[in-house]
Amino acid sequence: MRCVVAGSGITGLTAALLLARQGHHVTVVEAAARVAPLLRGFCREGLYFDTGFHCGGGLHAGGILRRWLRALGVEKHLQQVTTRRTEVFHFADGQVFRLPSGQDAVTDAVEQQFPGSGEAMAAFLRHMDAELGHSPYLNPAVRAEPAFALNSAGSVAQYAVSAGFPPHLQAMLGTRCLLYGVRPEESSLEEYSLVAGPYFQSSGSWQGGGLALVEALMACLKELGVTIRCNAAVTGIDADKAQGVRGVLLSDGSRLDCERCFFTGHPAQLEGLIPPGLVRPAYLHRINELPETRPAMLLFAETRDCLDENESIYLLPEPSAEELFPGVECAQPSVYLYCDRPQADGRKAVMAVALMDDNGLPAGNPHPRPANYVEWKRGATARLQVYIEQRLPELAGHWRILDAASPLTMRHWVYGATGSLYGVKHHLGAMPMLPVTRLPGLFLAGQNILLPGVLGGMVSAALAVGFSFGHDNVLKEFRECAEDE
Ligand SMILES: Cc1cc2nc3c(=O)[nH]c(=O)nc-3n(C[C@H](O)[C@H](O)[C@H](O)COP(=O)(O)OP(=O)(O)OC[C@H]3O[C@@H](n4cnc5c(N)ncnc54)[C@H](O)[C@@H]3O)c2cc1C
Repeated sequence: MRCVVAGSGITGLTAALLLARQGHHVTVVEAAARVAPLLRGFCREGLYFDTGFHCGGGLHAGGILRRWLRALGVEKHLQQVTTRRTEVFHFADGQVFRLPSGQDAVTDAVEQQFPGSGEAMAAFLRHMDAELGHSPYLNPAVRAEPAFALNSAGSVAQYAVSAGFPPHLQAMLGTRCLLYGVRPEESSLEEYSLVAGPYFQSSGSWQGGGLALVEALMACLKELGVTIRCNAAVTGIDADKAQGVRGVLLSDGSRLDCERCFFTGHPAQLEGLIPPGLVRPAYLHRINELPETRPAMLLFAETRDCLDENESIYLLPEPSAEELFPGVECAQPSVYLYCDRPQADGRKAVMAVALMDDNGLPAGNPHPRPANYVEWKRGATARLQVYIEQRLPELAGHWRILDAASPLTMRHWVYGATGSLYGVKHHLGAMPMLPVTRLPGLFLAGQNILLPGVLGGMVSAALAVGFSFGHDNVLKEFRECAEDE
């Protein structure tokens, strides 16, 4: 069958691979000039910034992410997989706590730093493992149709309070919600388990990060004869009521025939893509009303002699919004820093992320940028740098900011609707979007539909292909590689 995959992020490339392996004729069309703009990262002054994948959970042998990498046939292309990342939490009162990689190490570290909390932490980890164990896409031992989490077990914040965790530990566990841009009080325990759970099992990365993954997937797609077209945004879907999808219209004026379209961009685009009258307005209205995760201000910097490349740093509690982003109506921002392995020239890439809101920023994606916005961005960058140096004095004079990204940058860069960091927000009480749409032949996938992260994108792709061509066909190799371990 002829399939078009719209979008070449981790979701689109995974979907293309799974479809091509089943013998379908696949074309990937990407709006941007290059494949996987987010996942591939970018360079400044010769330094590589791994924006799409600096760290993943479940990378140990038998871990969920590792298993998917193997099932997709890309594991063999990835070098020096490490799972040693430690999270370091700096509190404003001067206290510093650490969460190492691996469940036993986490439990021991919690007991050591918060005496009496080790057993409750072990129970929390067991609870998360049980959640992870329910899904056939995350646990090869489960042989069932996928069922969506109903978010019924309350929030992470509620759990942390009822487990009796001390406030500092509550704040530390809450920071894992940063992985999907939702606050702990609105983050369901189920989704926390699916996104953050694997990070408690092991966390790390491999040499070359997101770019290495893109190259590995591209090599596999080439072998399978998949065509990839960049600078080719889907601008319309050709469909009728009787047949469903018949083809897609592209921004270069061409048309591609297909019977199936897997759309991995932001679903808010659908209203402009689907011919009027083919789906109920209420469906499109629901899609347009999906809430977004929080936008962020990002700093990209270099250092040589500061920060450990095996540590992620969180600055807690969050600074006051007025302090960092005056003029932007904003709930508390959160700040975390990530440092990559040294390059051959000894330089290390540092990425600092401050979650914020964008209420005071210009609407849309204006070019050229308004002068007052340019001024605001310059000020916000400088204030964030000062704030980080106050909290981590060892950085002052030892790092250099090379670039910064604001929510407007994100709108442009990841073709997002709002400039949010992780697209659609998956939160407590929200009804999940399904990959199946009201238009036969059109399927949705990606971080906006299931969950963010490289694992979320891969699983979402598998789920969408499973809904289209049968779950067992997709899960066969995932199950087989578990048997090989
Ligand atoms: C700064 C940052 C750091 C991150 N760090 C990590 C990390 O360390 N670990 C981790 O697991 N995750 C991380 N993530 C999250 C992860 O990168 C994303 O969740 C994931 O890459 C999303 O993949 P996706 O394929 O669903 O979406 P995208 O990568 O956004 O892909 C969608 C693609 O569709 C294209 N597109 C949109 N509309 C159209 C159209 N009409 N026609 C054709 N193409 C279209 C877009 O150009 C885009 O390339 C990070 C994200 C950010 C922003």
